[in-house]
Amino acid sequence: PAIELDGVVKEYLANGEVVQAVKGVTLSIAEGEFFSLLGPSGCGKTTTMRMIAGFEDPSRGVVRLHGRDVTNVPPNRRDVNMVFQSYALFPHMNVWENVAFGLRRRKTPEAEIKRRVGETLEIVDLVGREKRRPREMSGGQQQRVALARALVNRPRALLLDEPLGALDLKLRQAMQIELKRIQREVGITFVYVTHDQSEALTMSDRIAVMHDGLVEQLASPREIYERPATAFVAGFIGTSNLIRGTVDRVESGNAVLALDEGGRVLVAEASHRAGDPITITVRPEKITISTEEPAGGLSAVRGTVSEVVYLGLYNSYAVRLADGAEVTVFQQNALDSSSTAERGDAVWLSWQPHHS
Ligand code: ADP
Ligand code: MG
Repeated sequence: PAIELDGVVKEYLANGEVVQAVKGVTLSIAEGEFFSLLGPSGCGKTTTMRMIAGFEDPSRGVVRLHGRDVTNVPPNRRDVNMVFQSYALFPHMNVWENVAFGLRRRKTPEAEIKRRVGETLEIVDLVGREKRRPREMSGGQQQRVALARALVNRPRALLLDEPLGALDLKLRQAMQIELKRIQREVGITFVYVTHDQSEALTMSDRIAVMHDGLVEQLASPREIYERPATAFVAGFIGTSNLIRGTVDRVESGNAVLALDEGGRVLVAEASHRAGDPITITVRPEKITISTEEPAGGLSAVRGTVSEVVYLGLYNSYAVRLADGAEVTVFQQNALDSSSTAERGDAVWLSWQPHHS
């Protein structure tokens, strides 16, 4: 693996109290992987990155880069580079000088500087802009310069901490595709920090979802979306519905939830016992809305439509259940949409048990 964290903890002393920014992270990132740390503000993403880069020493645990223990090795002796959201470009230098700066300082021969800066500017698509200064460029272009400056050192891994955070949505989406292309082209490991779930889902090979200093789930984007391991992950990624109930009985390998207003929710986990409280999550697009009682074998609950929003390709329904919970349902619009439910209708919601 390119990067390994083994039981890494980071504690700070703030106003005489110990704050655990990172509470014990163990993960392994493969060479050439596009790996994201995703989570809300304050969950410990930046602290984790800074320990990989060497800007922070872990309070406990081990950091390994390409098999070597670097836990107490300074940043400049690690084969990684970090790109910051703030770009941190030199304002008085033009693009070429900004990118060449690190190589110059290390007394790289002039011919090699020329070749490497040229190559790198080509990769980030800045050929022809060599003489511009940062303030004469857009935010997206400045970000490319920052990227070039990190790539020109040819690190084996690049760490990016919310690098697109300062860009507007359209530019951010364009840069997401661009970053993915660049990563494929240079073929090195990217570790990407973001609080934006769609960004992580679009770009990553794997995602570690962090919450309160810990990794809650580490998996592919698809798995995280389709099979969130915890209620936190389900709530943080995409739109998700939480349905609460108590196990009524266990029946042919399914726990059957007792619901106030009839209906049945099947949970494919035989380890539950009658009386256990359970919260399940279901994605809006996995739910079917109907006025007739669905067939057996499906999970089904009753509710009343409280809102219908037409969204072109599909409708978004808000359906209120007997216990007051509101469930969001996305239903694709068929050519013949005469059978769709309306506000105030009593309906059934159903889904395959393995979708919850
Ligand atoms: P994220 O990047 O996910 O927003 P951070 O890693 O920056 O989160 O911070 C995680 C937690 O650690 C936060 O509660 C933050 O306030 C705290 N923290 C980070 N750096 C320090 C520090 N130097 N001193 C004290 N607390 C810190
Ligand atoms: Mg941060």
